[in-house]
Amino acid sequence: MSDTTEPGSYFVANYPPFSRWTPEAVPAVMAAFDAPATDAPLGLYLHVPFCRKRCKFCYFRVYTDVAAADVERYSQALAREAGLVATRPAVAGRTLRYVYFGGGTPSFLSVKQLERLVAGLHESFGWNDAEEVTFECEPGTLSEPKVHALKSLGMTRISLGVENFDDAILEANGRAHLSAEILRAWDWIKAADFPNTNVDLIAGMVGETAETWEQTISKTLALEPDSVTIYQMELPFNTVFVRSAKDGEGTVPVADWPTKRAWVNRAFERFLEQGYSISSGYTLVKDPTRVHFRYRDMLWEGADLAALGVASFGHVSGIHYQNEPHWDPYLDAVEAGRLPIQRGLVLTARERLIRELVLQLKRGSIDPVRLRNRHGIDPLTEWGDQWRRLHETGLLEAVEPEPRLTRAGLLQVDSLLPRFFDPPFRPLAS
Ligand code: SF4
Repeated sequence: MSDTTEPGSYFVANYPPFSRWTPEAVPAVMAAFDAPATDAPLGLYLHVPFCRKRCKFCYFRVYTDVAAADVERYSQALAREAGLVATRPAVAGRTLRYVYFGGGTPSFLSVKQLERLVAGLHESFGWNDAEEVTFECEPGTLSEPKVHALKSLGMTRISLGVENFDDAILEANGRAHLSAEILRAWDWIKAADFPNTNVDLIAGMVGETAETWEQTISKTLALEPDSVTIYQMELPFNTVFVRSAKDGEGTVPVADWPTKRAWVNRAFERFLEQGYSISSGYTLVKDPTRVHFRYRDMLWEGADLAALGVASFGHVSGIHYQNEPHWDPYLDAVEAGRLPIQRGLVLTARERLIRELVLQLKRGSIDPVRLRNRHGIDPLTEWGDQWRRLHETGLLEAVEPEPRLTRAGLLQVDSLLPRFFDPPFRPLAS
């Protein structure tokens, strides 16, 4: 990987890559929903695709400037889709172990809209027994009554998209919020006493310097969140930044990868000094005995994920799927009483193993015995050369008894993962 931050995606979100998912697999996805359930844990993901403003680095399916009637129609579609999914044999009667409201901006919804949405969802899915219900928030969309509503609607983990504390940087990157809104929202969140609070940051936004990053770390530490998640700025193709660069406005001034890794490392050091522990290449937690991230951990270990909403990604009985990625086809399908699945991929046994291996390595280590028992292949021998090379280059502490990344390896974990992919799925450059 080049040191420069070139346009493109570096973050590995899934395996095999989304580009290999096809409409031809939809019948297999439908058949999986109609077959008896596996014994994997089951979670629910809901995509709320509305934002006040499009961030210049964002490539997600989001809509800005929407009318209240659109929000209402979409919420009703989510509730209807929940009913369609919950009655399928692969899902019916199962307990939800985790729920995730993501986006977009779930907190874009008003209190009344949220109450109606949750009431509609509860007609099909109960989540009183779920171990975690995460709700993503954008600081400027919160109000004190909304935070109280989130608590009484059963959210247990609030994830606040702070990204940076410097107003000039927030503005330069197209964020809708400013730092004053972060502090105001955080007071309400703290006072509501959620079991788990997370702050999201991005290292290396346009305009970032060592000094501004240091201040962002200090201000985040002062919030004392239960966990902090730090991503490294990347420039996916379909973003305002990359499109403007192509239109002749020059390159996007984002720090290079070694600088971003050094900044994340600096954050790791300062959080560790304050008693936090590293829980993945992106996350530190204040108290690992109490603070968990069930969505991440269960998903990375092969859990089922029923996905609701436009463009949502799900996983059922070992099969990947994605919902219709556009507004009209999504709503048309749901309103006609059809599951809105647009493409999928049936994973082979080996692909399931590789998927779990690469996702778990993002936490810094894998459990080879568990993977071997689940998939019948020993990852230490199957990828012996890869582990050895990582060890020789100082990115792995040791190969046995379990491969564990060094700090240097952890800080660039996503760039290390493609070496475990089977050849057809490897990016050209790796
Ligand atoms: S708030 Fe999140 S989802 Fe919305 S535009 Fe910004 S990055 Fe994208």
